[in-house]
Amino acid sequence: MQTMTETLQKLIGKPLVESTDQEIYLALLDLVHSKSAAQVRPVNGRKLYYISAEFLIGKLLSNNLINLGLYDDVRDALAAAGKSLSDIEEVEPEPSLGNGGLGRLAACFLDSLATLNLPGDGIGLRYHFGLFHQSFADGLQNELPDPWLNEHSWAEKTDITYPVTLAGKPYTARLYKLAVTGYEGRTNTLNLFDLDTVDESIVHDGIQFDKTAIDKNLTLFLYPDDSDEAGRMLRIYQQYLMVSAGAQLILAECAARGCNYHDLADYAAIQINDTHPSMVIPELIRLLGEKGIEFDEAVKIVTDTCAYTNHTILAEALETWPRSYLDKVVPQLMPVIEKLDAAAKKRTNDTGLAIIDADDRVHMAHMDIHFTHSTNGVAALHTKILKESELNGFYKLYPEKFNNKTNGITFRRWLLECDPALVKEIESLIGPGFRKDAAELEKLLPYAEDANVLQKFSQVKADNKKALADWLEHTQGVKVDPTAMFDIQSKRLHEYKRQQLNLLYLIHQYFEIRAGHTPAVPLVSIFGAKAAPAYIIAKDIIHALLTLSKVIAADPLVAPWLQVVFVENYNVTAAEKMIPACDLSEQISLASKEASGTGNMKFMLNGALTLGTMDGANVEISQQVGNENIYIFGQTSGQVIHRYAAGDYNPADWYEGDPNLRRAIDFLTGPEMLAAGKEENLARLQHELKTKDWFQTLPDFNAYVVRKGQALSDYACDPLGWRRKCLINISKAGFFSSDRTIAEYNSDIWHLGE
Ligand SMILES: *Cc1c(COP(=O)(O)O)cnc(C)c1O
Repeated sequence: MQTMTETLQKLIGKPLVESTDQEIYLALLDLVHSKSAAQVRPVNGRKLYYISAEFLIGKLLSNNLINLGLYDDVRDALAAAGKSLSDIEEVEPEPSLGNGGLGRLAACFLDSLATLNLPGDGIGLRYHFGLFHQSFADGLQNELPDPWLNEHSWAEKTDITYPVTLAGKPYTARLYKLAVTGYEGRTNTLNLFDLDTVDESIVHDGIQFDKTAIDKNLTLFLYPDDSDEAGRMLRIYQQYLMVSAGAQLILAECAARGCNYHDLADYAAIQINDTHPSMVIPELIRLLGEKGIEFDEAVKIVTDTCAYTNHTILAEALETWPRSYLDKVVPQLMPVIEKLDAAAKKRTNDTGLAIIDADDRVHMAHMDIHFTHSTNGVAALHTKILKESELNGFYKLYPEKFNNKTNGITFRRWLLECDPALVKEIESLIGPGFRKDAAELEKLLPYAEDANVLQKFSQVKADNKKALADWLEHTQGVKVDPTAMFDIQSKRLHEYKRQQLNLLYLIHQYFEIRAGHTPAVPLVSIFGAKAAPAYIIAKDIIHALLTLSKVIAADPLVAPWLQVVFVENYNVTAAEKMIPACDLSEQISLASKEASGTGNMKFMLNGALTLGTMDGANVEISQQVGNENIYIFGQTSGQVIHRYAAGDYNPADWYEGDPNLRRAIDFLTGPEMLAAGKEENLARLQHELKTKDWFQTLPDFNAYVVRKGQALSDYACDPLGWRRKCLINISKAGFFSSDRTIAEYNSDIWHLGE
């Protein structure tokens, strides 16, 4: 048998010791390609197509090596030659083909499908730059292109193309295939579409480009700025490219397996990930029409084939398009959408459920619910809110369509890959079974009282914190004290996620420390978050945090106790460094607003305790671990929904009524902040909080301060008790494996073949 060293040397053509990191990386890419190709299996029965505008896959090398069982051999072979796998990983650019949780979920699902040996491929777009690259200058977010494509990309060009008509003009979509290997499982495919004519050189001044040159710009960026009409139109162009090419691919693959289109639902299950791919419904009906299938039958076929996942209850995030936009970009779909609208209006006279409303706006989610067989929410609370309020009219019409599938994460990336030291400890206690079956983590529970074990887990955390501290110094030049408590809030920047609540807490602590009330333990408060380029208040929150960070660092009284660090360009790579090093996980969205969250699951799995509201999957985390092993605070979703309904929330009452809150909010435009930051941004944020505060930060402020204080003092005063809670969190994380989620989708919705 060839050793790994021999295999790699043969691929490179010279000894490993003499090879560059780049040469080794390319050899590993070759190795992974050939090994994963060997795991491709023929499909029998139903195959899933998971169609999504985002697949936030992250770097693929280590994940693929782990899943193919090559990781240890490669690591050892490299070490013997004086090379390190983590240096080789640096060579790989991260494909940031997603925005946040929704895109990361799609990536986790692909991993679990392949691991469970289920036939399930992804369909999406081959964005050239993905989301933007974030950097900070002068306390502000800068956006730059984030390139990941080079001649050695994981996504391989194929000869397969499909014609797509956009605004009456013909284009050619080309298919790229990216292999998705399961952990000791099969290899599936992520199908990504692109146009050959896209031209990266039209990007200038950060991420600006000519939004009207469709042939050149179509797949440059995920979510191009939609603050103007051309940008919004571009999103429809992108969506239609994805669904039209995707639908043609699905029909071609099924036909090749013997499908006669009438029986499409026996060959394909299509999961529509949020509303971005919703036009796949009318597109499939249109294409089936071209194959000679009558409209009514086509509607039934498509309904039986497609299912829809809802990811939000934020009204502004539920897509509706002016009919005039669709008339322009996809006139070929409008006759179908009109017929679907008429059919829906026959089923109900509730105008709130119409596809095309009285203002001539087209409601994508409504089309999904009427014309798929399943609508699911992504956590128990979210599904309950959909049924009881947001989509109650639909629920009454189609109770049988509604179901819950609580999100999950792949433990290959979020434990095996990112926290090898923890894995080693776990394995020494309970054996390797948890690698395949996450529920086996429960076998850790008996060790909750074992001080020796807790001490070892504590050492792993300390080492991971040291590693994060080194990484922060190396990448950003920031020095942090690894013996402080690490408190992390990393996720997209959005007012509903309430980074501003954390901001107010930090200002409060600043005052308390200056007054001599030092906390139980020094705290390093770490943020990671990108703000959408056109989201002004989100950017103001970033500015306030960066400014506060400077103010605190410059204050000799406060700096020993409190430090604020904002990690640049939060992405999957950064998440993999940050999450294993976290002590306290901030999950503080306004109850009812976070559909599920998956960051919360990653932190818990890596032995952090959650400070959170009763929102999204936090509710299920608290059920798993018990109330004594999580720090819950704040209004419940019921109270929040009630407050919205009453319409009587007035932040000024809270501001006037609570001196601590007033002090913190006033500080935003006090002399210290103005000396270090920009008045325009700080004053705008202050005004927003005092007069609007749509996400009810102020009513939760006090409870948050108290609960966080409790967490800090538990951490400082009862280290063993803290470690016990961490171990219980790890042992109860099994439920949040995406393997469990995918198994549920399969048994309730997809019924896939093999
Ligand atoms: C998991 C993940 C998210 C989602 O985080 P939430 O806290 O659930 O919003 C966002 N971005 C990245 C890079 C992630 O890995």
